[in-house]
Amino acid sequence: MSTVFSKIIAGELPADIVYEDDYVLAFRDIAPQAPVHVLIIPKREIPTTNDVRLEDVEALGRLFLAAAKIARDEGVAADGYRLIVNCNEHGGQEVFHLHMHLLGGRKLGPMLARK
Ligand code: AMP
Repeated sequence: MSTVFSKIIAGELPADIVYEDDYVLAFRDIAPQAPVHVLIIPKREIPTTNDVRLEDVEALGRLFLAAAKIARDEGVAADGYRLIVNCNEHGGQEVFHLHMHLLGGRKLGPMLARK
């Protein structure tokens, strides 16, 4: 089932795009949780990390290459940042098109909220 991210890839929905190549698109999160909050997605629709196949290795590797470039471009590489990929209900996934969050620009605190 297509998601809002497919519409962004197709150019049917606006997004603040910061990076694009043949495999990957990256754009600013609509509800940023840090001064820098970019979503990096494979152009192929992979719903969750449970659906990753061997043929996705190139695209997923490129997510990390894109993350490193975006971190440099956004000026957060040296201080550091966090990459997050949520999966399904317990992971808090809301959009079922695999995506990597790049968060930075401030100290992000503990990795998980203590609940
Ligand atoms: P997740 O909870 O990991 O599925 O994260 C989904 C993220 O997508 C959330 O941080 C949302 O704020 C973000 N999001 C949803 N719709 C859009 C959109 N149209 N443009 C940019 N970010 C979006």
